[in-house]
Amino acid sequence: MTARTLILVEHDRREVKRPSLHAITTARALGGDYALLLLGQGLDEMASSLVSYGAAAVLVADDEALAEPLADRYAVVIAQAAQKLGATTLIGHSSTFCKDILPRAAALLDAPMLTDVVAIEEKDGATTYQRPVSAGTMLATVQLAGEKRVLIIRASAFAAPATDAASSPIERLEVDGSSLPGGTRFVSREERVSDRPDLTEARVVIGGGRPLRDKESFDRLVGGLADLLGGAIGATRAAVDTGLAPNDCQIGQTGKVIAPELYIALGISGAIQHLAGIKDSRVIVAINKDPDAPIFQMATYGLVGDVHQVVPQLIKALQQS
Ligand SMILES: Cc1cc2nc3c(=O)[nH]c(=O)nc-3n(C[C@H](O)[C@H](O)[C@H](O)COP(=O)(O)OP(=O)(O)OC[C@H]3O[C@@H](n4cnc5c(N)ncnc54)[C@H](O)[C@@H]3O)c2cc1C
Repeated sequence: MTARTLILVEHDRREVKRPSLHAITTARALGGDYALLLLGQGLDEMASSLVSYGAAAVLVADDEALAEPLADRYAVVIAQAAQKLGATTLIGHSSTFCKDILPRAAALLDAPMLTDVVAIEEKDGATTYQRPVSAGTMLATVQLAGEKRVLIIRASAFAAPATDAASSPIERLEVDGSSLPGGTRFVSREERVSDRPDLTEARVVIGGGRPLRDKESFDRLVGGLADLLGGAIGATRAAVDTGLAPNDCQIGQTGKVIAPELYIALGISGAIQHLAGIKDSRVIVAINKDPDAPIFQMATYGLVGDVHQVVPQLIKALQQS
């Protein structure tokens, strides 16, 4: 079996992460066959959930040695899979998982790599890629030398793929655990179990800033509004650094990039590094007590007020509606 493109599919050991499937849209735009690759242990159900995306194959590297996503091991298996397929393009989406693993795979494949790709254009036989730089204030247009490439795409820039009626075959990859690198050892995992949607997948996100003051207020106001609207919670770096919200809630240049239908920013100044993570939101609502706060320049709707007064009223009104 051959395929031009190999797509790394991320999962949380229970289900596939939807944003990783947006790379399928990228692969379709590039043309040629594509294969999906899942790594881990106990992947049968997840592999079955991937058979209707028009892939030439769903490749499954299911082995005890891959039970934990150790980047040095995963990179070797991914590079071997790409070589076996004869794939010249390897794609993942912009997540900590892919950014940890794919650069190593790129090195093993001796292929150039780009992160945060938001657009691809084929013109006069040349391919150009766009990626934001300087906290999203500029877009760089770049080209890659050679035929091989490793791309990390921003899922928010590529649509969710439509499913295909045809069923892709599932192929198991042979994994020789004893030959994989043993330079890193899994020690433990800390997992936050939450009923709220994933921040990068949510249709509604409520973001909280430094003025939320303490964890109790953050949970009551940001969490309270999120639960009423079925949304995810996000935070500024200032809120994360002061311990109001967990690290994986940070939105922005050094956090997550989101593109929800509705983003509500509570007590957030609108620093350029935060805006870099929210600018693709369809509607932005900002509540800030300073009428000159920069967030109001990007907001679709703005309310000048104190979050400690306005948000409890909003929560009460939503509960009564
Ligand atoms: C290299 C680098 C990377 C960074 N990466 C990120 C990133 O990824 N994400 C990120 O968010 N930041 C990032 N930052 C930090 C960023 O520059 C800002 O410092 C941060 O976003 C500010 O957070 P904030 O808006 O919560 O706090 P503040 O800047 O303190 O703003 C608080 C806002 O709340 C308003 N306010 C105060 N009290 C109330 C109230 N009671 N009710 C309503 N409004 C009120 C104020 O008017 C103000 O506008 C980065 C910085 C650097 C240098």
